[in-house]
Amino acid sequence: MIELINLDYALDALEPAIDAMTVDIHHNKHHQAYVNNVNGLLEGTTLEGKSLIEVLKNIDDAPSEKKKGINNNAGGVFMHNVYFKQFSESPSEISGDLKNNVEQIFGSYDTMIEQLKQKAMTQFGSGWSALVVDNSSKNLEIIQVANQDIAEVIKNNKTPIVVLDVWEHAYYLKYQNKRAEYLDEIVKIIDWNKVQENYTNI
Ligand code: MN
Repeated sequence: MIELINLDYALDALEPAIDAMTVDIHHNKHHQAYVNNVNGLLEGTTLEGKSLIEVLKNIDDAPSEKKKGINNNAGGVFMHNVYFKQFSESPSEISGDLKNNVEQIFGSYDTMIEQLKQKAMTQFGSGWSALVVDNSSKNLEIIQVANQDIAEVIKNNKTPIVVLDVWEHAYYLKYQNKRAEYLDEIVKIIDWNKVQENYTNI
């Protein structure tokens, strides 16, 4: 069974960047629904009982009539795990080898953040921008992800370590159509110590 992760902060801990009601609905309804759906879809398939990452890597083993649903829902669980784990009410700044790598590849931290926000702004319709790491070379790049289509990225030996959710459910209650304002606020609550942990473990 794939389980819903626990938040390691209170529902209102991310205010004012993300309001408590949005965190509640986003995590306890949307994120939970992806978990429930993927568990239902995996039942009776050869992927049942595998970890989330193994499901995504081996999605081509899914029965063809279930593949799209597993892609959407396992991808949804994975992206929301990264999204909710990256935030903190007392975020740490970027440091160490991740900072060095960001500066080497993007020129500066601020430039990388601008590119991440730009990719999120220009994602047409539901989706994400993501900072991804090549598992072998540790190279970093910023990509757009439509819907929850992260399985192909993971199959290509890459791991998202920071993700910006631009599905309307992520921001509409507080920001309505002002996607740019939402993005400006959420990049301030990314806890780079948490991101560094993921980066180190790849
Ligand atoms: Mn979402």
